[in-house]
Amino acid sequence: MKIVPKNKGVFTFSRLHSPVLEVDLGETLLLETEDAVGGQVKDESTPLEKLDWSRVNKATGPIYIRGVKSGDTLVVDILDIEVSSTGVILVVPGAGALGKKEFKPRAKIVRIKDGFAHFDGIRLRIRPMVGTIGVAPEGDDYPTGVPYKHGGNLDCVEICRGARLYLPVFIDGALFAAGDLHAIQEDGELCVSSIEVEGKILLRFEVIKDARPEWPIVEYNDHFSILVADEDLDRAVEIATEEAVGALMRANNWSFEEAYMFSSIGVRVAVNQVVDPKKGVRVIIPKEIVSIQHLLKREG
Ligand code: CA
Repeated sequence: MKIVPKNKGVFTFSRLHSPVLEVDLGETLLLETEDAVGGQVKDESTPLEKLDWSRVNKATGPIYIRGVKSGDTLVVDILDIEVSSTGVILVVPGAGALGKKEFKPRAKIVRIKDGFAHFDGIRLRIRPMVGTIGVAPEGDDYPTGVPYKHGGNLDCVEICRGARLYLPVFIDGALFAAGDLHAIQEDGELCVSSIEVEGKILLRFEVIKDARPEWPIVEYNDHFSILVADEDLDRAVEIATEEAVGALMRANNWSFEEAYMFSSIGVRVAVNQVVDPKKGVRVIIPKEIVSIQHLLKREG
């Protein structure tokens, strides 16, 4: 098994990066990852105003995957996620759903033991997930803090152990990178951070040739989720609904009207996060209703 250490990382998703490693399809890969603040907050007295924000949200990689070409779908199986025994959660004025309120910057160190995070006497069962995961984008670089069609800072709770992620490939080899693990997060990620932890991600790659999704897709348990991000939350919901209705039409030979009706009764919208530069939603469609082929666009 190949291992990539956490010092091999990037702060942008870019076509111009040199890969740190090449892997084959089907090969198991272990990525070691920094926490989202680059390990800069080790205790609660760390002055947050002195954080080096150029060191946040590092993604380990990029990885060149042999056999994957532009126009394909990169299939990423999240085999396991291991998180460290402490994490940090922080609030910073100007950030998060209540960023306009007056409050103090503050960090809290959270202990993680035997599968539980301990927050001020409250025990929460951890649900480790990958916050940032993606490939080189189609055009200009994206900072790792931004979610978009190439992936990035998706902060979706479903990108966890057992999930399968489908990413559009825009450059041969894909140039995959991931990091920003959360021990636990809830939909919305309201305060701007979660329990940010360093850790390890065990992965394996597959490919679907000559077809790709418009937006990242997660397959988890009994459903597919299409992950859409936009500066405007209403617009993100609108785009996600269009994507879902299109897939329902293709899968069932329905008219727009029928598929649109069905979206109210068979499709669910959830909010991934409202705190990143682009806000993220997911539209959740049962696997009984669509297959992955209905969610991909054939090239040519
Ligand atoms: Ca994040």
